[in-house]
Amino acid sequence: MILAENVTKTFGQGDTKVHALDDVSVNIRENEFFTLLGPSGCGKTTLLRLIAGFDLPTRGNILLDGQEIGHLPPYKRPVNTVFQNYALFPHMTVARNIGFGLEMQGRSKSEIKQATEEMLGLVQMEHLANRQTDQLSGGQQQRVALARALAPRPKVLLLDEPLSALDLKLRKEMQIELKRLQSETGITFVFVTHDQEEALTMSDRIAVMKAGHILQVGRPKEIYNQPARRFVADFIGDINIFEVTLDQVDGLAGRVTLPGGATLPADLPEPDVAAGTVSVAIRPENMLLTDAGDKAAKLTGTVTNVVYFGAGSNVHVALKGGAEVIVRTSGEVRSDGHEVGLILPDRVQVLVD
Ligand code: ATP
Repeated sequence: MILAENVTKTFGQGDTKVHALDDVSVNIRENEFFTLLGPSGCGKTTLLRLIAGFDLPTRGNILLDGQEIGHLPPYKRPVNTVFQNYALFPHMTVARNIGFGLEMQGRSKSEIKQATEEMLGLVQMEHLANRQTDQLSGGQQQRVALARALAPRPKVLLLDEPLSALDLKLRKEMQIELKRLQSETGITFVFVTHDQEEALTMSDRIAVMKAGHILQVGRPKEIYNQPARRFVADFIGDINIFEVTLDQVDGLAGRVTLPGGATLPADLPEPDVAAGTVSVAIRPENMLLTDAGDKAAKLTGTVTNVVYFGAGSNVHVALKGGAEVIVRTSGEVRSDGHEVGLILPDRVQVLVD
């Protein structure tokens, strides 16, 4: 539905020139909750602003429903934006804020009333319709901002870190709420965040960005379980990255030899990765602790630390050969430097830089 084709956006000139986006292509589908995820400065907001029409690409095209929209000013695009600071009108009531976009479009009074009531219901704010928005809590203001942006029924809603001002508990509630609003309205949401957990919770698909590039696009489980790039693996959740030797490469499969000499089948992120030293990633929850003598253990080491976090513990294990790995367990583990074995998953994922 939204197609960015080879989009580059630069700011400044000469020595101060910044490539905010560098030849980015991405296809966002209709009715999708699509998230742009990446660290500060990677170009997320820039891409959102190009879709909204607040900025124009230096090179490349943005298409909506197959039509080039580069020439359309923001208000003529079927796109609306929810900003981080909500940008509500403080002197107006909740209801007037929600209806404001429709008022500007010259819709009839009855149409505005009906849409406002529908939106108040959608965000569960009926009881506060006549309150001024400067007398609302942060979470309530957030709901009004969403209702106001949804009221004109845009085809696409752009959300730039809309939950970052909320405390953790409210943020978690609003994550679920946003997902519900997206599926109930069927509107395509493009959501910007630097919070990987938020992205995993809400998205149909995630684009992971770094320094003006999109490194990987995929469903949350793909991004989490099959990160293609070292940066993606590292950015999302805890992970152990090992240096291993790769051989027997055949298309997207190969075999790796671990530091202790054990071998495992491996999935490759692209065909025909060169044999030799590569990195593989294993999540802490995808390894099991066992006795050092257990024949199923592919690695052995000594426990150096146990970090309890409520639902379980992260056990730090120093492998023979020096590397340290983290294994997640819900069981009791002594932290006194005893030897343990590690049972590894059946296959591992090879990363490229
Ligand atoms: P954050 O999470 O901090 O908002 P972001 O991923 O949204 O970051 P952008 O705001 O898109 O990043 O910025 C990408 C790069 O472009 C950064 O290096 C930023 O400094 C630069 N940039 C963005 N807007 C401008 C501008 N108007 N003038 C000059 N440089 C800009």
